[in-house]
Amino acid sequence: MTRDILMIPGPVELSPAVYKALAAPIASHVSPTIIEAHGAALENMRRVWLAGPETQPFIIAGSGTIAMEMAITNICEAGDKVIVLNSGYFGDRNEKMLKRLGVEVRAIKAEKIGAHPDLELLEKELSEDNYKAVFGTHVDTSTGVRLDVEKVSKHCRQSGTLSIFDGVCATAAETFRMQDWGADVYYTASQKALGLPPGLALMVCSEKAIKARKTLKSGPPLSMDWLAWRPIMQAYENRKGSYFSTPATGLISALDVSLEEILSVGMEEIFSLHQRVGDRFRSLFEEHHLSILPESKYAANTLSAVYYGEHQTILQQVKEGGYVIAGGLHPEIKATYFRIGHMGYSARNGKDVQGLIDVLKKLLSEK
Ligand SMILES: *Cc1c(COP(=O)(O)O)cnc(C)c1O
Repeated sequence: MTRDILMIPGPVELSPAVYKALAAPIASHVSPTIIEAHGAALENMRRVWLAGPETQPFIIAGSGTIAMEMAITNICEAGDKVIVLNSGYFGDRNEKMLKRLGVEVRAIKAEKIGAHPDLELLEKELSEDNYKAVFGTHVDTSTGVRLDVEKVSKHCRQSGTLSIFDGVCATAAETFRMQDWGADVYYTASQKALGLPPGLALMVCSEKAIKARKTLKSGPPLSMDWLAWRPIMQAYENRKGSYFSTPATGLISALDVSLEEILSVGMEEIFSLHQRVGDRFRSLFEEHHLSILPESKYAANTLSAVYYGEHQTILQQVKEGGYVIAGGLHPEIKATYFRIGHMGYSARNGKDVQGLIDVLKKLLSEK
């Protein structure tokens, strides 16, 4: 039986090598194979994040939302004051999590859906007041808006404020240079451009971010505590088994394979490849007079968010052509647009993007 190709903004298609790793027999979390995979994956995360040797990578069983909460609860506590750059659904989630914790949130929200948050306002706020941290979403999956993370990190560095980025729909696809840009926390989840099943929360943290954790009065829930997890990560990196809470062994073996595949392409090529794929979809929509949701200057390369226009049944039609794409996510305009994920293995293998573009071309020309 043929199956449909999954091109939603996560989960995404997996490579044959990743499937093979996932089918490996179960192994102890302190077996030589898992120790090696875990250690190598941590080292390779720094290469994919383009992070410095002093940074701390973490691999934890969990979702992207758990990664968000882990970053928030290790940096912030009640009474702290932070800025959230809000460019959609996941910006709202950031705000919600921070407020539940009793953090005072100054939200800099994009003026309209699909716009980029005002960075002049960010600069002004940072110069006039004292904020502990700035939170931003590299690519908001509900709007397809890509944040200028380089500029945000620069403003934060200049004012001595911590910068924390949700890279869930961006890591290993959109250009990101942790060391050069000086970002403090950058997290993702396994099911987006890394090309694994859901189940891992991954992040790389600066020394400054870990220091901020150490100054918290009470700290995060133990299961999410960087200070509890750090010795475990250090042990695995030194190729020693260690236990605090059982790692997701099978997924970690697959992560090791996927990071190797990404690095064998090379990060610069990975970034430009996703740019080229994003451009191909954008030209197709332009050619067929479909408008995209994000301001074009800030349109993400990992996904397209596109208004249905006259093509209200496009999801079903694409499905008949053998591809699964997604509906809208932003609650205010959910019914008016659809989304296509074009990241990770599908962006690399040549056939998925071409196949979907062929299907879209055909059905968009039929009208
Ligand atoms: C998918 C996504 C998340 C949430 O990840 P889950 O694994 O669904 O919890 C968070 N932020 C962004 C930008 C995402 O794309």
